[in-house]
Amino acid sequence: MAEECIFCKIINNEIPADFVYKGERIVAFKDINPQAPIHILIVPKKHIRSINDLTEEDAPLVAEMIMVAKQLAKELGTAERGYKLFFNVEKGGGQLIFHIHLHLVGGWK
Ligand code: 5GP
Ligand code: ZN
Repeated sequence: MAEECIFCKIINNEIPADFVYKGERIVAFKDINPQAPIHILIVPKKHIRSINDLTEEDAPLVAEMIMVAKQLAKELGTAERGYKLFFNVEKGGGQLIFHIHLHLVGGWK
C-alpha cells in the first residue's frame, strides 16, 4: 500500500466506493465521475504507479484485469453492444490517479 494513494485507501476500505467486484488480487468499482452510462475501474490490489512500471511478473495480473473487465461487461449488459477498455499512462496520457486501473466504459443506447 502506498500512503496517500486514493485507490489503495479504497482497496483497504478507508474510503468508500461502489464495488462491483472483489477478488483475491483485483477489485472493481464505479468511477466517481462517469464518462458513460457504465464506467468501471478495474484495479489490482498491488500498488503499481503506471503501465510504465509493470514488470514481467505482473503479466498474469494484467491478463486477469482484462478477464475481470470482460466478465463485468457481460454482467452489466454491455458486452454485445460493445464497450471500451483503456489505460491512461502518465500525465501526458491523461492519468490522474497513479495506481494502475483499467477503464471499462460502455452502456450507450
Ligand atoms: P485516470 O485519469 O487516472 O486514468 O482515471 C482516474 C479515474 O478515477 C477518473 O475517471 C476519476 O473520475 C476516478 N476517480 C478519482 N477519484 C476517485 C474516487 O475517489 N473514487 C472513485 N470511485 N473514482 C475516482
Ligand atoms: Zn495505490
